[in-house]
Amino acid sequence: MLIGVAVPVPGLGLLTYSVPDEVAPPPKGARVSVPLGTRTVVGVVAVLDAAAPADATKLRPISSIIDATPFLPSTVVDVAMWTGDYYAAGPGEALTMTLPPAARRGESDAFRMITVASNVAASNVQRSEVRGAKQKAALEILRERGTLDLRTLDGLGISRATMQSLERAGLVRLTEEIAERDPFIGAAGEDRWAVGQAPELDRALTAEQTDAFAKLAAWSEERRFRGVLLQGVTGSGKTELYLQLARRVISHGRRVLMLVPEIALTPAVAGTFRARFGERVAIQHSGLASGERHDQWHRIRRGQIDIVVGTRSAVFAPLESVGLIVVDEEHDGSYKQDESPRYNGRDVAAVRAQKEGALIVFGTATPSMETAVNAETGRYEKLRLTRRIFDRPMAAVRVVDMRTEYAEFGADVILSRTLIEALTDRLAKKEQSVVLLNRRGFSTVVFCRQCGTSADCPHCSVTLTYHRASKRVRCHYCNYAASLPKVCAACGGEFIEQSGFGTEQLEHVLRERFPEARVARVDRDTIRKKGAIAAVLKDVSAGKIDILIGTQMIAKGHDFPEVTLVGVVSADVGLGLADFRASERTFQLLTQVVGRAGRGDKPGEALIQTIHPDHYSIRAAAGQDYDTFYKQEREFRERMLYPPMVAMISLVIKNRSADAAMRDGADLARRIRARLPDGKVLGPAPAPIAKIKDEHRVHLFLKGKHRTAMRMAVLAALADRPEIRRRVTVDVDPVNVL
Ligand code: ADP
Ligand code: ZN
Repeated sequence: MLIGVAVPVPGLGLLTYSVPDEVAPPPKGARVSVPLGTRTVVGVVAVLDAAAPADATKLRPISSIIDATPFLPSTVVDVAMWTGDYYAAGPGEALTMTLPPAARRGESDAFRMITVASNVAASNVQRSEVRGAKQKAALEILRERGTLDLRTLDGLGISRATMQSLERAGLVRLTEEIAERDPFIGAAGEDRWAVGQAPELDRALTAEQTDAFAKLAAWSEERRFRGVLLQGVTGSGKTELYLQLARRVISHGRRVLMLVPEIALTPAVAGTFRARFGERVAIQHSGLASGERHDQWHRIRRGQIDIVVGTRSAVFAPLESVGLIVVDEEHDGSYKQDESPRYNGRDVAAVRAQKEGALIVFGTATPSMETAVNAETGRYEKLRLTRRIFDRPMAAVRVVDMRTEYAEFGADVILSRTLIEALTDRLAKKEQSVVLLNRRGFSTVVFCRQCGTSADCPHCSVTLTYHRASKRVRCHYCNYAASLPKVCAACGGEFIEQSGFGTEQLEHVLRERFPEARVARVDRDTIRKKGAIAAVLKDVSAGKIDILIGTQMIAKGHDFPEVTLVGVVSADVGLGLADFRASERTFQLLTQVVGRAGRGDKPGEALIQTIHPDHYSIRAAAGQDYDTFYKQEREFRERMLYPPMVAMISLVIKNRSADAAMRDGADLARRIRARLPDGKVLGPAPAPIAKIKDEHRVHLFLKGKHRTAMRMAVLAALADRPEIRRRVTVDVDPVNVL
């Protein structure tokens, strides 16, 4: 028999191998070892009864069968194949991505953990000849806590080497055992569930929720594909609906996939599911240690899990008989993977729902243009929740025109009088505030007062940002860092100035203005350490923080009932970008962050500082008026031929030489145009960020109605120039176009 095997090599199609007649053929989804050139690799059986290759002499037999039963469910194989094809990555990369790392090497499913137990009685520890302080500490810990595993010890600063020398000295015993770790245990913010604890109860639904639930439940029972946009204002209780719908679907013997944009930022959602459904909930995201991920994957595969909560890669979770997929905050850009395969988890989820015959719910307060158009044209159903729970009012929004502020107080003003007053008022009333600025660092530009030259990254075409905590200027694209220049690199001038401000400076200014306030900041600089964000969010929930400052990270689905004020320091960050989604992103970010105010008993207020008070995305966000925004944005996309009115594929051609990149870009453009007579091919042109990490970047954009024809034209053009393939990024339905 001939089988089609996906092997872990980028860009390669399915390869055909023969299975010797005397062996039982492997099922679809099983792993096999196959020869590839001079190597042997682990591949996944994607097709049974494959067609014979054109050149029969090249046909080789498989080396061995790793799994006698399907390692991956059949639908996951199909969805991964679709992903590799649609996003022009090939089946190999897409299929291996769905396997946990150890499985990619062909290992069996048992994850081994090494545990350590003290071999000696406490009294002997004192007497025995223990040399290093580390060894002493290790024995102390073991004496106190009994048996521990090496990973936990590692977390306590005690290495495997230390334990091994103790073992050689006969002081401890190391044993290997198969174990499963539960990522909920010990993770701050996610510990709402404990063994033996009674599950949380479902809430009585409001009238609006009841209507939506009745429809969703009926659709879920049809057991066929259906897409639903659940558009509910912030705080309308979408999560409660997901929970109760999940319970219904499980009671009918099917399983649930719950996708969220970023678990580290919103651990509460995973915690809520866990609190309701206990240990039949698994969590899948990239922040898990590989061992934890592995354990969870196998628990899902063995059928011990009813609900998987996870980020985009969880769309490939090995669940069988999925009846419901929820894509929460479906508009969020982090569903798109920015490395190959460049898939959008939201869109792959829709394909999975089709193959499973499942209901898929896209939940959000601010639907993406893609999903909104699908709802408008009737491809998806649409349900709306227009009120907050208990009819709590939406936050009252005021727009503060910073131009008047600058005219009066100079261009350095960061906080308007209105915002200062509002913050003062909240501090006096002991209520919490959230202040958003979507830009990190202290100063965003460092420049010479004499000649005006700014300090740019030597490797990228961007300015360096000054970070005061580390006293260094840093590139946000390649992480290049240097000390703050004392003289200008261009003219030698000695007057170096800074301008522009980020969250670090905002924190500084707020602490100066409100020395008595308890201030916390959340951005990529402050949450590097694992668990740091969960700790801050916990402090906010516990009322230990008065003012929470942050980038877009603090705008995401957090539910802090005591926050009554949201300030947006500059709504304009991001509006000026050469990105056709700039307005959509601004509208979403502002609406989401405004939605953080007034979620509890006390009404909320939001202040938006801007120099573009008349821009439609700012106006619509201030009025929390999605429909008006949608109408205008749709018109813009239609007029300018932007997605979702057309399909788009972007190509980035990278080269250390700018000329060579342009030349290759022009050549590819010509080859694509020749194959796509009625498609639109724009470029080549230098990308808005023309250089990153010493590589010049040239853009090509394809727009048209026929995505498949466009993709084929691109792949054919690239096949003409295999020597540049490595330097060309193909992005189907791009999200980032800078
Ligand atoms: P959304 O996801 O739409 O922003 P949430 O699901 O976070 O809204 O709900 C907002 C708040 O209302 C949460 O604190 C949630 O626990 C609460 N809530 C939701 N539904 C109900 C209900 N039916 N009865 C009481 N409280 C509810
Ligand atoms: Zn750089």
